[in-house]
Amino acid sequence: MDIQHAITAYASAAGHRLQPKAVLFDMDGVLFDSMPNHAQSWAKVCNSHGLHMTPEEAYLHEGRTGASTIHILTQRQWGRDATSEEIQSIYEDKCALFNACPEAPKMQGAEATLEQVRDLGLKIHVVTGSGQRSLLERLNTHYPGFFSLDRVVSSKDVEHGKPHPEPYLKGLAQAGVAPWEAFVVENAPLGVRSAVAAGIFTIAVNTGPIPDEVLLNEGAHLLFPNMQALANAFADLYTACYE
Ligand code: CA
Repeated sequence: MDIQHAITAYASAAGHRLQPKAVLFDMDGVLFDSMPNHAQSWAKVCNSHGLHMTPEEAYLHEGRTGASTIHILTQRQWGRDATSEEIQSIYEDKCALFNACPEAPKMQGAEATLEQVRDLGLKIHVVTGSGQRSLLERLNTHYPGFFSLDRVVSSKDVEHGKPHPEPYLKGLAQAGVAPWEAFVVENAPLGVRSAVAAGIFTIAVNTGPIPDEVLLNEGAHLLFPNMQALANAFADLYTACYE
């Protein structure tokens, strides 16, 4: 994929040159190779509560808040929204199952990307659909020195989760930058939709089983097969913004 072409196309659609000052990272499937655990936990907990979802379907809901995913399933199978008790019970069970999984490894290439982002003086933020309490602890354990609480937007900070633009708009506000002053790094179709709707240059990394076309059809400006490929290209990408 031609980096310069992607940057030019973005600038002409946005009506503003791309001048990155911050990078907003999604977490699961970008910083951690945690999606297999999430997909298995969702499938298991749904089946145990009389709802049905395959691990494959979980990838298509990736990025939604837990409550929103549960509503979709109860509407489809029970013809109604979930009650707040059901949401709490299902989401708690899901978190317990996820936390019992072997710990998800860091995504290969993520730290190399973060180091370059930091060394270029760009701000590092996280915008995640996850609402787990251990979230920041996990980030700091595995990536010490890169993240802080005032630079994280979680499901607890938004009214509307991805694919709504709110999470990424909040991320921009938190970083104090305009849409054309940021990159987003996302692996999920709904996450890409959210970031594109917020007007941000969106880099998809296809770390899961979804075809590339699904991410590109959501409007991703660039696509890499994994985080290592993004790390390898990041210096060129940044430089190309100022050519
Ligand atoms: Ca993700």
